[in-house]
Amino acid sequence: MNNQALNEQTVRTILADVVRKALAAQGSQACSGQMHAGPIPVEISARHAHLSNDDAIALFGEALRPERPLSQPGQFLSSGRVRLIGPKGVMDNVAVLGPSRGVSQVEISKTDARILGINPPVRQSGDTKETPGVILASATGIVGLETGVIVAARHIHMHTDDARRFGLHDKDMVDVRLETERPMILENVLVRVSDDFKLAMHIDADEGNSSGWKPGTTGTIIGHSRG
Ligand SMILES: [Zn+2]
Repeated sequence: MNNQALNEQTVRTILADVVRKALAAQGSQACSGQMHAGPIPVEISARHAHLSNDDAIALFGEALRPERPLSQPGQFLSSGRVRLIGPKGVMDNVAVLGPSRGVSQVEISKTDARILGINPPVRQSGDTKETPGVILASATGIVGLETGVIVAARHIHMHTDDARRFGLHDKDMVDVRLETERPMILENVLVRVSDDFKLAMHIDADEGNSSGWKPGTTGTIIGHSRG
């Protein structure tokens, strides 16, 4: 082997190494790029009730009336408020969100649950099987729910375009770092994707208070949850 051949061989080896490293870097960059595709607005989902139309009429004598729109398109805060009555305590002035649903559902924090004296599980919205009930009262009506109280599991609403940008799909679970005074990593955050959604992460009041949430707080997706 002469010097020329040795040099060629060396150059080839070095080139191959450079190309391999460049490709690897590109790969990891593409991956991390997907996971850090920008900040996500974080909103507190305070205690509230969703009502069936029948329950709305029983409580308010009419269908739910919009007071102001919420961040998710089509959703609104209704003009009605209810009192939650549990075995140990009550909570007044609880928001009722619309539009009405097939089945009534009440979303509260673990702290609220302690005050009311009930023990709801952490669930995704709509999953109310074998959950505790509560009594709802307005100035003019009363409704007893046999089931339907949950602590809403944290989740991210993503428009289809956002999901593509993040490289995520409906029902993916991700870990999110809350960029707050007391930063916190929340694991197992469910991603919901729909053309009807606007990008926002929803956490409850306990999660918000413990992390030092304030208006304008954002979250960063740091990876897929291990499950
Ligand atoms: Zn939500």
